[in-house]
Amino acid sequence: MSGSYDVVIIGAGVAGCSIALHLAKLGVRSQIIERESIAARASGKSWAVFAYPPRFLALEGQPPELLFSMPPGSVHSWLELMWLGYHRLPDMAVELREATGVDIGYGELAWIRLAYTTQQEDAYRAALALQQQQGYHEGYWMESGELRTLFPGVNPLSRGGMALPYLQVEPYRYTLALGQAAEKRGVTIRQGEVVAFRKGGGKVRAAVLATGGRSRQTRSSWPQVPGRPARPPPWGARSGCWSTASSASACSRPYPFRRVGWWLPTA
Ligand SMILES: Cc1cc2nc3c(=O)[nH]c(=O)nc-3n(C[C@H](O)[C@H](O)[C@H](O)COP(=O)(O)OP(=O)(O)OC[C@H]3O[C@@H](n4cnc5c(N)ncnc54)[C@H](O)[C@@H]3O)c2cc1C
Repeated sequence: MSGSYDVVIIGAGVAGCSIALHLAKLGVRSQIIERESIAARASGKSWAVFAYPPRFLALEGQPPELLFSMPPGSVHSWLELMWLGYHRLPDMAVELREATGVDIGYGELAWIRLAYTTQQEDAYRAALALQQQQGYHEGYWMESGELRTLFPGVNPLSRGGMALPYLQVEPYRYTLALGQAAEKRGVTIRQGEVVAFRKGGGKVRAAVLATGGRSRQTRSSWPQVPGRPARPPPWGARSGCWSTASSASACSRPYPFRRVGWWLPTA
């Protein structure tokens, strides 16, 4: 047994680190258990683009008029939640930099869905009109002339495009910043592999960790976003990581993990 917390979070990916930070803000004590290192898996390898929320619904082959007629409590509330999260990202970038000193590489992009036929153009214009009618006002139709001015190499058959804003971060640094901000609020991150759970009274009471063996330090790379200045993450500075405009170095993250045998959350 090594400690008691309100919540145990398995995995120091973007989900685990974000949950820990937000729980800490609410005064809920948590601990993250990670078998490798922060952002070692999907969260360190992601493109880390935050898609403009209505985009998913407008382009999944559904008739646009059905998208917003879904009953409250299903897709609409999910869309609203995604919308709120999307618009919080600029503030999160500032908050995380102030809390941790980590620049998460916040950036704004545009995603343009090209139309080659009148049917596509009609469908995209209709999708944009519907989005705007519902208050999702940031997308717009880009005329072919504007498109060619901005992208001289664009396919000459394109008639224009549906331009939607996107946001982006550097995935490793974003996850790292979330983890560090959580730690500053009292969250602990420790190394261990959860292999089972102990139940009691119909609830999960404990996470069982693999014991024995040696603590593994994994190798992972810091993704470099094209066009951004090459800057190593804070840990990289201490551990010999570096990157250039065209490549990122592999490094070991010297996180001071401790091995534990048992972890018991508060009932
Ligand atoms: C190439 C690529 C591009 C992507 N692009 C985008 C994008 O542009 N936009 C977007 O929104 N999403 C994108 N994604 C998806 C996004 O990266 C993932 O949805 C997100 O990172 C998942 O986060 P997570 O914390 O749930 O999982 P992970 O980052 O995988 O974290 C899980 C962690 O749990 C640890 N773990 C697992 N099992 C155990 C255990 N038993 N005990 C202890 N620790 C354990 C792992 O080591 C890992 O660190 C992309 C993914 C990839 C791979």
